[in-house]
Amino acid sequence: MRSRSPWSSRENTAAVGRLFTPKIAEFYEKYYAAKGVVFVKGTAVKSLEVSDGKVAAAILRDGRRLPADMVVVGIGARANTGLFDGQLAMERGGIKVNGRMQTSDAAVYAVGDVAAFPVALLGGDVRRFEHVDCARRTARRAIEAILEPSGGAAEEGKAFGYLPYFYSRVFALSWQFYGDNAGEAVHFGDFSPPVAGGKPKFGACWVSGGRVAGAFIEGGSPEENEAMASAVRSRAAIADLAAELGSRGLGFADEESRRKGVRRGALAAGDRPTYARHATVGVAAAVSIAAFAYWYGWMAPYVVKRDFSDPKL
Ligand SMILES: Cc1cc2nc3c(=O)[nH]c(=O)nc-3n(C[C@H](O)[C@H](O)[C@H](O)COP(=O)(O)OP(=O)(O)OC[C@H]3O[C@@H](n4cnc5c(N)ncnc54)[C@H](O)[C@@H]3O)c2cc1C
Repeated sequence: MRSRSPWSSRENTAAVGRLFTPKIAEFYEKYYAAKGVVFVKGTAVKSLEVSDGKVAAAILRDGRRLPADMVVVGIGARANTGLFDGQLAMERGGIKVNGRMQTSDAAVYAVGDVAAFPVALLGGDVRRFEHVDCARRTARRAIEAILEPSGGAAEEGKAFGYLPYFYSRVFALSWQFYGDNAGEAVHFGDFSPPVAGGKPKFGACWVSGGRVAGAFIEGGSPEENEAMASAVRSRAAIADLAAELGSRGLGFADEESRRKGVRRGALAAGDRPTYARHATVGVAAAVSIAAFAYWYGWMAPYVVKRDFSDPKL
């Protein structure tokens, strides 16, 4: 944890705002809070207090002492590329590769977390993704390239057709994100706190030039998830995605979107993509709150077992 909370874009604002939107972030933060998770924001862990060889408390920079049975540290990750320093070209904190996963040494391929590759969907922008799905697909791409060296030359300059994809579970909830959170976010669905085990369904689309650049969906069915992925993959006109969602009772009903006029302006554009309706949803791994934060390189969300006898909390 540091002065800027991982779960907020600013001190005391809501969770995951940096990655998604403040509205989405606020939903999850309230959801965690309703489960008894306490977020301590605007400070940092200064030290850990150890007693009898076990952690007993975390001492915060502002002087507070938080009793703890267990501490889970989520402080971000960095690609371990040191072995290749000075030997291979680097970019975005990883090993630079082309669309065939070839490094600056054509005999060396890099895949997974360490590989920074040009993404076709993002106009060839070089990105690095820390995700199992990316590790698998880049590995497959490298194998294909190795097995077809003759076809390689023509493809060397081409970006890799990867759809950026992330997912996670939050207690009983589950979200999926596809593409890029670039452009203006338009929310849809019901962001009300779920009651008595109910499953909410909501999300956001990032719209750039009237087309879908990225999409987030919480509680989507396999068909809905695939529709979102497909819309991003094909850079669908937002009008078409709106119609698709509308047919599922998930219109862009959000006040913020209406106020910004995104709906009226952006929904006017576009051709008509065909949405795949088949269920091809990946199996989501359960990710704990700390692992989730660690994965995205946020600083620890600091999950504490609350000591209700401590008046300072
Ligand atoms: C806490 C946490 C939670 C995560 N949760 C999810 C999730 O829910 N869903 C998801 O999709 N992804 C998740 N991820 C990301 C996912 O684990 C990675 O994207 C994925 O493992 C990357 O695979 P990789 O093969 O590129 O790298 P790794 O799995 O990291 O494998 C690299 C291997 O190389 C070894 N190595 C490193 N340096 C050297 C060296 N010099 N010599 C020899 N060996 C070396 C390492 O020991 C390691 O075994 C999570 C990651 C973390 C850390």
